[in-house]
Amino acid sequence: KKITIAIDGFSSTGKSTLAKQLAKQLGYVYVDTGAMYRAVALFAMQNNLISVDSFDKVKLLTKLKNIVLEFKFNTELGFAEMYLNGENVEKAIRTIEVSGFVSKVAEVSEVRAKLVEQQQEMGKNKAIVMDGRDIGTVVFPDAELKIFMTASAATRAQRRYDELLQKGDSVTYEEVLKNVEERDYIDTHRDDSPLVMAEDAVEIDNSHLSREEQFEAVLDLVNA
Ligand code: C5P
Repeated sequence: KKITIAIDGFSSTGKSTLAKQLAKQLGYVYVDTGAMYRAVALFAMQNNLISVDSFDKVKLLTKLKNIVLEFKFNTELGFAEMYLNGENVEKAIRTIEVSGFVSKVAEVSEVRAKLVEQQQEMGKNKAIVMDGRDIGTVVFPDAELKIFMTASAATRAQRRYDELLQKGDSVTYEEVLKNVEERDYIDTHRDDSPLVMAEDAVEIDNSHLSREEQFEAVLDLVNA
């Protein structure tokens, strides 16, 4: 039986790692909704609509219809990459700069409405693992399995920091921790679809779980 699996939670809790692993195991499609919000943030940056001290929301809204987001499967990598207006932005959306702006862009209701609609369309045939912040609450409130992932901010910042270092990004742990805490705050306090755990979600705190333990636990839930 094909189901919809919604994976939500705070930044850097390992949602995408788990979701990718699950999709591969089950032969499902994986959709990283954070990548879509990141691509909109990148678009805003490229068009000088957002900076550290300003955000031209009104102008972004007039340009929303010009933002075309697509996922294209990369057979070598084994997962889909994000394309913004035909350009592969998979790497460009993962920088600390984009991380610094994305939550502000994700607060805009019209941005959320556009992306949620596209996400619902992608999931209409089920057999999908989607990760984000509002998948179990807004995008697929009827998902058969909802997971909510948590871990301490310090654990998450350390993971993200290690990842960025590996990519050669020159950041400090403090910068990453600050970014993680800022995004947590904005994500849980925005008016439109704030990050909350769906009532029927299963919470997994993976501060002290290995990837394998976590994967096994979730597979058990899928097969339950
Ligand atoms: O998952 P990731 O950390 O890449 O998401 C980046 C940001 O996009 C989040 O911090 C959040 O502000 C926003 N987001 C969202 N709703 C989603 C997915 C991501 O608001 N479904």
